[in-house]
Order: sequence, then structure tokens, then C-alpha cells
Amino acid sequence: MGLKSMQNMLFLKQIRDENGMLMAFGKPCVFMPVRMFIEMQRELELEFPKKKVREVFHDIGRKRTIRGALFFKALRGINRAFETLSLGSPLVQMGALSLSSTGWGDFTILKSTKDKIIFKTANSPFAYAQKKELEPTNEPVCQILAGMIAGAAEVWKGGRYKAKEISCAASGKTNECVFEVQRISD
Ligand SMILES: [Zn+2]
Repeated sequence: MGLKSMQNMLFLKQIRDENGMLMAFGKPCVFMPVRMFIEMQRELELEFPKKKVREVFHDIGRKRTIRGALFFKALRGINRAFETLSLGSPLVQMGALSLSSTGWGDFTILKSTKDKIIFKTANSPFAYAQKKELEPTNEPVCQILAGMIAGAAEVWKGGRYKAKEISCAASGKTNECVFEVQRISD
């Protein structure tokens, strides 16, 4: 079974209409264009220091991944399916699968040590929206994704991590976004 068909099997079954609300894994969800996140961040950056706003967006992503991981960890049936199919650590696989299945991008680990992990993605929706719908920029735009990856590192390795996007496809000069995730405390 290909990974894509398994994604569909696991995720499509979990998306349903309930009294006119779109429910995914029992939680109400909405579809909205990714550029809305970028525009929200821009509006905040007009009012507050840019560095602080970017840290807040990073932390929103980080906390979301940690909550999501705890949620998936509780889905024992899905964990068992992964173990049976020998796809490696169920939690790490579920993390990557839940990100790609919900449109956050496919991630590849380029390097991993205790203190540093390098991830890359060739399909960040933030970089795409910035480049195609707004305008190319040399500033990285994937702060939420960076935070999500930091959260994934925390769930995976323990301790506290912070991610920095060292190359972003929003520039139009590269096709990939690369994130350096650094351990900042135990
Ligand atoms: Zn990016």
C-alpha cells in the first residue's frame, strides 16, 4: 500500500460533516487560504516589534505540534497500525503524515544530532502563497512551520528546541525551505 493511499485511508475517514460544521478528528475545522496567515502576521508586524511577532508565530506552531502529538499518541489503534506495517516510530511517522496530509508540506530530515536537526521541505504552502499570491521576498515567511518542526523535535527527542528558517523558497531563488532546529534546553 502506498503512503498516499494510507494517508487517505487514515485521514478521509476522519473528516465529516456534522450539523453543517466540518469536523476533523471530532474537532471543528475551517478551510482558509494560507495567505490569510501571512496577512495576519503582517498586520501584527505593523503594530508590534517584528522579531517578537515572529517568535509568537513560531510558538503557535510549536504548541500546535505538541498538542497534536499528544492527541495522536492517544489514538492507540493508529499507533498499532504503524507498528504492524513496520513504518518505524509511530509517533514520528504520524507527525510527518499528519503534517503532509493536512497540507503543511512534506518534510525530509537532512541531519540529526542530539543538539541540532536540519529539516527541509520542497512544498511549504507559506512560501508558495508568498511567492505566487503576494510577492517574492528575501525574508523567510514560514515561522509557523518552523515552530511546528521545533515542536516535533521536542516530542521526538525531549528537551526544548527552537527552529530557524535558514533558506526560504519565498525568495524565488531556491525551491526548498530549510530549517535548522537547535536544542535550547533539556
Ligand atoms: Zn519557507
